[in-house]
Amino acid sequence: MTAVSIPPPVVPDRRYDIVFLDRDGTINVRVDGYVRGPAELELLPGAGAAVAALNGSGVRVVVLTNQRGLATGDLTQVQLDEVHRALAERLERWGAHVDAILVCPHDEGSCDCRKPLPGLFHAALRAAPWAHPSRCVMVGDMASDVIPALSLGIRAILVGGEPPDPSWERAQDLQGAVGRLLDAPEVSVREPVDG
Ligand SMILES: [Mg+2]
Ligand SMILES: [Zn+2]
Repeated sequence: MTAVSIPPPVVPDRRYDIVFLDRDGTINVRVDGYVRGPAELELLPGAGAAVAALNGSGVRVVVLTNQRGLATGDLTQVQLDEVHRALAERLERWGAHVDAILVCPHDEGSCDCRKPLPGLFHAALRAAPWAHPSRCVMVGDMASDVIPALSLGIRAILVGGEPPDPSWERAQDLQGAVGRLLDAPEVSVREPVDG
C-alpha cells in the first residue's frame, strides 16, 4: 500500500466524499492471473463514463486493489506501473481520472491490507482525514470488496454477480452503480471524448 495524501474535493455540496473502486472486474475486465501490461487492460463497458460522472460530481475516486502477484513474482512493480499508466490514459479518453490507487502487494495471510481485510480502506481514510465513512461508498465485484467496507460503516455495492448475502446492495455493473449513486441516467449515454 502506498502512502498518499488525498485532497478534499472543491465541490462543497457534493453528496459523497470518496467513492472507492475495486479495479479488476469492476473498472477493467478481469483476466486469468494478472493484468501484466497495457495490452491486457480492457475497460469494462460503461466504466469510463461512470468514472467521469463521479469526477464531475465532485467526489474523490480511489482505487483499492489486491495485487498478490507482486509477492509471488508473477507481477513486477514495473509492469504494474505501466498498467496503471495505461489505465489513466484509457480513462482520460472519457474525460475521467482516478485520484489515487492503493495497492496491497502482499501474499495471503501476511498483512492487514489484503481485502477482505480493511487496511487499504484505513490507509485511504488516513490520507483523506476530511472524509467520513458514512459519506463514502465502495463498488466492487467480490464479497472481499464489500465485507471490509461494511465493517467500517461504508456503503457498498456489489457489481456483476449475485450477492452471497441477499441484504447486500447490488448493481449490474459500475455504470449501474454510479447511475444510482448520482441519480443520473445520462451516465449511460455519454460518449468518449476525441483523442
Ligand atoms: Mg475485483
Ligand atoms: Zn497487504
